[in-house]
Amino acid sequence: MAAFVYRCTDCRREFPRDAVRYLCPDCGARYRPGVPLIGVLEAVFDVEAITSKFDRAKPDWSLLSAVEPQFFPPLVVGRTPLVPARRLGEQLGLPRLFIKNDGQNPSGSLKDRASFLVVAEAARLGEKRVVCASTGNAASALAAVCASAGVEALIFVPEKAPRAKLVQMVLAGARVIPVKGTYDDAFRLSLEFTAKRGGLNRNTAYHPLTIEGKKTVSLEITEQLGLRAPDAVFVSAGDGVILAGVHKGFADLVRVGLISSMPRLFAVQAEKSDAIHRYVQTGVYSDAVDPTTVADSISVSCPSNAHWARRAILETKGATVTVSDDEILEAQARLTAMTGVFTEPAGAAAFAGLVKVQAGAGALPKDAEVVVLATGHGLKDIDAPLARVKIPPAIEPTLDAVPVT
Ligand SMILES: *Cc1c(COP(=O)(O)O)cnc(C)c1O
Ligand SMILES: [Zn+2]
Repeated sequence: MAAFVYRCTDCRREFPRDAVRYLCPDCGARYRPGVPLIGVLEAVFDVEAITSKFDRAKPDWSLLSAVEPQFFPPLVVGRTPLVPARRLGEQLGLPRLFIKNDGQNPSGSLKDRASFLVVAEAARLGEKRVVCASTGNAASALAAVCASAGVEALIFVPEKAPRAKLVQMVLAGARVIPVKGTYDDAFRLSLEFTAKRGGLNRNTAYHPLTIEGKKTVSLEITEQLGLRAPDAVFVSAGDGVILAGVHKGFADLVRVGLISSMPRLFAVQAEKSDAIHRYVQTGVYSDAVDPTTVADSISVSCPSNAHWARRAILETKGATVTVSDDEILEAQARLTAMTGVFTEPAGAAAFAGLVKVQAGAGALPKDAEVVVLATGHGLKDIDAPLARVKIPPAIEPTLDAVPVT
């Protein structure tokens, strides 16, 4: 039995689980699309009840799950490899470098974790339709998990989403509604849709269980390191919800006494999609005016979870970094060539951020244990790296024609 209440991250008021669904009823009343969400809810677990049940030798993560396992969809999500990247790490002065390869999720991105938990919640509530707006991955994740659970997925996407992601959602049987406009337009429209026509809204951070779903990546990393938190985690940030999820996961582990301190969290954004970066630097929020980037999954004008994202960086003494499209594609190629992990541009952005940090004054020390989240599979968007790839010309099928090396 999940023992938790929701607490508003702004006014701190607490609510029983079934008294609220999305934002804090008080603070959320002030929210209008076009600003970062206000009144995002945090699931606060009954630490005493949980701690006494935790077996440190083999932690039962369902104690920290906000939905009971009997409601889980059949699709297996998470449990992705933590890949040691020693050779690559040594080039950066960090031999204890790891890549958490979340591209190995069923739909190919970390978003499966959030969709999984929200669809479990839909099952608990008896909701037959789940709705979301997405730049692509949240939608392909929702489509896959809904297909597994036998629930309808209704999806608003910007019409320019990468084709592979669109193919995924359509094949999984989702109702896909491409929107003429940006992700921010799709986000607003989906809120209006669920307010007037119903269904459970899975928009990132708007539904608090998206954060709870994403936190599972931190529980896994800790378990894979032998019940120890790393020193630093690099996360690419668009809406800032993966970042918040990673933060929440480690914070829960501190609360139940499984780790003693938080890792430093580093958020990496694309140069023009940098609203969280500037918010952390200046303390003043403003939208990214033209968030164009090759990393479509982190292209956001108005990050829904900007406030929590900023807090995660400040509380853990982390930092934000921005990277150019060239740096992202360069990082993607290097990561693939050195580790075999092929991650989409948004995933590679996190690694590009680490490269940048290591080249600067704030470089992490040699003994630091560092995890880079590879958040999505490289095959999600091959158009992005295609221009930089030279595919050799075909030869006659004779041995003489094979170039000598
Ligand atoms: C969604 C996504 C991100 C960014 O997550 P936010 O919660 O929007 O910050 C990063 N990488 C990939 C592959 C994603 O799909
Ligand atoms: Zn509130």
